[in-house]
Amino acid sequence: MPKKIFTEIQSQKLKKLGILNSLDLLLHLPLRYVDETKINLIKNIRPGSMCQIEAKIISIEVSYRPRKNLTVYVQDITGDLKLRFINFYPSQIKQFEEGKILRVYGEIKSNSFLFEMIHPQYEFISIDTPLKNFYTPVYPTTEGLSQKLIFKLVQKVFEQENLDEQYPDYFGNLYRERNFPSLLEALKLIHKPKKQYEKNLFDDKKSIFHQRVIYDELLAHQFYFRGKYNENKSYKSKPIFYSDSIQQDFLNSLEFKLTNQQQSVFLEIKNDLNQSYPMYRLLQGDVGSGKTVVAAMAALQVINSGFQVAFMAPTEILAEQHFAKLTSWFTRLGIHIELLTGSMSSKLKDKSYEKIKSGEAKLIVGTHALIQEKVDFKFIGFYIIDEQHRFGVRQRLALRKKSESHKDFEPHQLMMSATPIPRTLAMSYFADMDISIINEMPPGRQSITTKIFSSEKRNQILETINQNCLNGNQVYWVCPLIEESETLQLETAEQTFHDLSNYFVKHKVGLIHGRLSSSDKKEIMERFKKNKIKIIVATTVIEVGVDVPNATLMVIENAERMGLSQLHQLRGRIGRGDKKSICILLYQKKLSDIAKQRLKIIYENIDGFKIAEEDLKLRGPGELLGLRQSGVPSLRIADLDRDQELLNIAKKDADFLLGQNPKDVSMHISRWHRNYKDVGRS
Ligand code: ADP
Ligand code: MG
Repeated sequence: MPKKIFTEIQSQKLKKLGILNSLDLLLHLPLRYVDETKINLIKNIRPGSMCQIEAKIISIEVSYRPRKNLTVYVQDITGDLKLRFINFYPSQIKQFEEGKILRVYGEIKSNSFLFEMIHPQYEFISIDTPLKNFYTPVYPTTEGLSQKLIFKLVQKVFEQENLDEQYPDYFGNLYRERNFPSLLEALKLIHKPKKQYEKNLFDDKKSIFHQRVIYDELLAHQFYFRGKYNENKSYKSKPIFYSDSIQQDFLNSLEFKLTNQQQSVFLEIKNDLNQSYPMYRLLQGDVGSGKTVVAAMAALQVINSGFQVAFMAPTEILAEQHFAKLTSWFTRLGIHIELLTGSMSSKLKDKSYEKIKSGEAKLIVGTHALIQEKVDFKFIGFYIIDEQHRFGVRQRLALRKKSESHKDFEPHQLMMSATPIPRTLAMSYFADMDISIINEMPPGRQSITTKIFSSEKRNQILETINQNCLNGNQVYWVCPLIEESETLQLETAEQTFHDLSNYFVKHKVGLIHGRLSSSDKKEIMERFKKNKIKIIVATTVIEVGVDVPNATLMVIENAERMGLSQLHQLRGRIGRGDKKSICILLYQKKLSDIAKQRLKIIYENIDGFKIAEEDLKLRGPGELLGLRQSGVPSLRIADLDRDQELLNIAKKDADFLLGQNPKDVSMHISRWHRNYKDVGRS
């Protein structure tokens, strides 16, 4: 940071706001604006509004009881007004001399018979002090950094010489075509909007000046991801030879026929695998849409071509379930499958490591344990990552690990996610990947009926459960998510388990929660699967991937506290067999409006994509994508929801410019680069 613009102390304060250089400061945009371009007459002011008044001091009054209070009475030609200061310096008392003229700005309150302003902003003026001819910006700030100072520093940056040379527009023609102002002009006006513009446009970040800056950020974002996407094609992978005979052999052994979308998604994957650069594809499909079998078919082809495949799941339960399923599908084809999870004994793990290293193990199913140092593949050709959104970026990157003996080759990657994201959002936000979508359920699924009850009706539900069990079906009872305290959540679950066990003497009740050892969890799920347990009380650990088709009733407590996608995932645990299923959502009294709306969405929709779209409308994309945790570079100015239209334009332009102008593209990215530093594939 050049010394001449900011003092050392200022630099330190600015750093607290994430401002490290003058460009950062220019991109530190006002939150909103204040209109000090007009004078309001006292007779026209209304309580609650923000006003600027010019008035003469009539008298002042200092009182100390009940507390220190300085009141300044002022008057313009239309009326009187009170200014009140609760904290003030003795020197301030002297400042307010009778007869002096003040310009004050603040909110009008009506606490007494006279309207008043409390702690207004004020300055002493002479009759001809000019009014501001621009809207006053209000910045996000930190202690010790006043609005006035930020404004002054910003203006100081603009006064530097050669600013145009420092911040040139890289794509001048394009900006002209889109009728955008230059970046510097845009920033100047954002920081100091002329009063002839409509203030609302600036407050809403909809002015053409804002649009230009937002567009630039989105463009950089797209450049970055599309650049990664293109770069991916410069890596080398082993093309996978497709064998139709082994495919047919596999399909013939399945107990079902593929849906059309499973088939077409497989074709996309098959085509990717056949390239000499790595596949980098995200497969999105609602819970139960049958993604696993698609991944299995791809794995089969890779193994058949002589390479190893790793299949990674976020939890042990899920890994074990995949292991069981894949074993039942692949053993007859003579494929050796290994399991590798953290909770396995070190002896068993060592055995697995050995088989992975020797190449005996062809398909390795596991948890994070798969990407530990110790794992050394003979020749890994393909990584499958299930429930991708559960893994952080770091783990995604760790997967770039290659086989020691084949360092020049990148494994192919298929990520799967059951968190459906509306297509346009996915395409722009995951612009570095290819995306496939399964938007169709296998046939024969019974619909799920969703019911909503107040928890006060908890007891009535017990009879429904009883009937369900008498009919030979099973039940999930999901305990509330208590984020503040895991212990409390556990207690609730144990209490519920206790109550239900006492009530249903004839039906066996089980309990599963996150604190259990994984072998205990496994055993309980096994017994539930075998119908030895009829009713399972669970914390939200069952969310991911459990498959028990005979379970046809689910009760979810405190449903209003859960995220829509979580509710949707939970509900997806039932309706898996050929029997009708019911999901009962219990809520605590006094639902907020937004909670009502959200439950209504779950009640009315069964399609995960539809739910995601509605959720997007309600919450905005940041939360929906879990961006805060994901490690994906965040946008500092643009908002994917508000700026959808610009995003689409930027996406189109980025694809076009990437091929034309590599040098300017990389300059443009580095202008915005700080955001992108910890993302990347190499
Ligand atoms: P998800 O996409 O949520 O991972 P799964 O792959 O676990 O879904 O599939 C859910 C269930 O549907 C599994 O029992 C699976 O064997 C079964 N299944 C998958 N495809 C079909 C199909 N085309 N027809 C019938 N059942 C299918
Ligand atoms: Mg799955």
